Amino acid sequence: MTALAQHIARLIKETGPMPVSHFMALALGHPKLGYYMTRDPLGAAGDFTTAPEISQMFGELVGLWIAETWIAQGSPSPFVLAEFGPGRGTLMVDALRALRSVPGLLQALDLHFVETSPVLAAIQKQNVPNATWHDRFDTLPEGPLYVIANEFFDALPIRQFVRMKQGWCERYVMLADDSTDEAPRFEAAIIPVPQASNDILASAQRSGPINSLAEVSPASAAFTEDISLRIAKHGGAALFIDYGHTKSAVGDTLQALRAHQFVDVFSTPGEADITAHVDFEALTRAAKAAGVAAFGPIEQGTFLKALGIAERAETLKAKATPEQARDIDVALNRLTSREEMGALFKVLALVPNGAPGPAGFEV
Ligand code: SAH
Repeated sequence: MTALAQHIARLIKETGPMPVSHFMALALGHPKLGYYMTRDPLGAAGDFTTAPEISQMFGELVGLWIAETWIAQGSPSPFVLAEFGPGRGTLMVDALRALRSVPGLLQALDLHFVETSPVLAAIQKQNVPNATWHDRFDTLPEGPLYVIANEFFDALPIRQFVRMKQGWCERYVMLADDSTDEAPRFEAAIIPVPQASNDILASAQRSGPINSLAEVSPASAAFTEDISLRIAKHGGAALFIDYGHTKSAVGDTLQALRAHQFVDVFSTPGEADITAHVDFEALTRAAKAAGVAAFGPIEQGTFLKALGIAERAETLKAKATPEQARDIDVALNRLTSREEMGALFKVLALVPNGAPGPAGFEV
């Protein structure tokens, strides 16, 4: 049992069952014992692998997307480029290399990282020394804002509601009957009191049948709103890439990964990566309400192909050994094929109302 499990067990004893969202926030973000606070979870030796860690092509194409969007809005100078949840900084290293060839861009660039993990921020600092770090949105400087977020929203807490006869009731984490102080055990259960806050569910969720489960991420909507208000006011763009669904729907997507294997969500808080699928319709709703235009979501495979990933792979292969060329083909397939990341991962772009449509989203 983990130290964080004992801490959460004490909290539940003292203050009662906690919503799933509160458990997820503590498991991932407790300042001392949270999953992201204590480790680098990425790569073969960690718990999961992300697109920028699979191939340099991913960050390079995202970099070129930023350049095209920046040029399409008249090359504002200076501008803020902010990455949310940059992991090891790999995407930004590859993006900056691609951006070197764009006249005037690096001179105009003011680079910022929004990151809560001290372990990952230290790795980012080694790889991208000239960024400025923030642990929340509000301290980002004003001005035209270009945002990148890859696999950021899936790590933000979700609330879960279940439709009972009496209405939508929230799922809470409580202590199991056999839980002890030394070996706490948690289980999720529904407190059968309808929530007054049902209006946070999308209409497609509210009409779900009895026993259906609906997920909402107020934190994701809040980040999207903050980013969108800034883009509406000062110009800029946002690119959100994550696994999830195009339309709001019912269904339980909460999952935990440890050493690349699925584990029980509630058994080892602080030791496993807990995520939920991103509801892109909810993000789109928050963005439009804040006054920006939304493009997509489209599938990652479609997006990367439209930006020229196949051509980029050929260029890299021309200079590669046969073994490296095979690796490039494997990476290309993982990023784009519908059986791998190509269809599950979606891409949503936000730009000011009336601004030119962003690259990769032409129909
Ligand atoms: N974008 C990277 C890493 C994805 S993992 C990649 O694609 O490889 C999720 C990232 O989000 C980590 O860097 C994690 O520390 C960060 N993170 C999680 N919750 C956060 C929050 N509330 N605020 C800022 N960063 C957060």
